[in-house]
Amino acid sequence: MPIQKGAKPVDINKRRVINGEDADVIQLYPMRHTFAWEAYNVGNANHWLPTEMSMQKDIEQWKSKDALSEDERTAFKTVLGFFTTADSIAANNIVLAFYRHITSPECRMYLLRQAYEEAIHTHAYQYIVESLALDESEIFNMYREVDAIYNKDAFILSFNEGIFDRGFQTGTFSSDQKFLENIAVFSLILEGIFFYSSFAVMFGFQRQNKMPGSAEQIQYIMRDESQHLNFGINMMNAIKEEQPELWTADFQAHLVDLVRKAVVLEYTFAQEVFPRGIFGMNAAGFKQYIEHIADRRLERVGLPVQYGVENPFPWMSEAADLSKEKNFFETRVTEYQIGGALEW
Ligand code: FE
Repeated sequence: MPIQKGAKPVDINKRRVINGEDADVIQLYPMRHTFAWEAYNVGNANHWLPTEMSMQKDIEQWKSKDALSEDERTAFKTVLGFFTTADSIAANNIVLAFYRHITSPECRMYLLRQAYEEAIHTHAYQYIVESLALDESEIFNMYREVDAIYNKDAFILSFNEGIFDRGFQTGTFSSDQKFLENIAVFSLILEGIFFYSSFAVMFGFQRQNKMPGSAEQIQYIMRDESQHLNFGINMMNAIKEEQPELWTADFQAHLVDLVRKAVVLEYTFAQEVFPRGIFGMNAAGFKQYIEHIADRRLERVGLPVQYGVENPFPWMSEAADLSKEKNFFETRVTEYQIGGALEW
């Protein structure tokens, strides 16, 4: 856009998450969406890199004949297969949908940080695959070969259709609803539901003192992802306030329906990863866990809870729920003391 020479500073009251009137995405101040600036600072304080984690014990266990059962190996690889492409899918949407259409410079500032974090996560999976000498083409191609991963990814990617078109623009009732739907799918569903049975599997390993270097990286990833989810929820709630006309009863029912579909896809995935159940987690437990977290996501954006079930994995809630400040990882060795040390 051309610079208007001599124009006055932007009017904070006109700043919007989408459809900002000034469309001045260059002036960080005056700042309106302070949640984005806070998230940016939290992200920086939580900085970490996968190569700082030791994979020694994981390598020994993976090579050993009896450290891991066949079911555990399959579960570990399938979860990794989901993870390896999920963060790339998230990153593409951040850069090609969110960044292009969000007009709040403070939100864009956080999106730059978030996009880098998605790259760090993909790096972590690459580091685990390489350290364990797994077959890269098997793991990184699982999203096309394993039905339960394919079904989740195909569902998510269908919400890029239209939004990724060059001609897509916000500013009409239907395009704004479509954009809000995209945030709901990528934040609430991909980052808020589709990662969580895989997180639970990895912490199942950790609780048995298995694959500790991989699990530690997943802890850092979960901490980042809970910030991503939180930011997405804050953006949704800000758009709802700025453009309340978008939040129709039909649209709310549509979002609830998408979350309900996602819950089925996610527990189907969990059942395929753990056909016989391990680490005290079985198919019924996963179903209930996923329903429980789906309710928490719905609540945060003011949608009605659907399942009303208890958390069957209370040890996960301490790690995963955004509201918990308690340090779930208090037992971990804390020699890792740079800015990125885990603090919940
Ligand atoms: Fe993310």
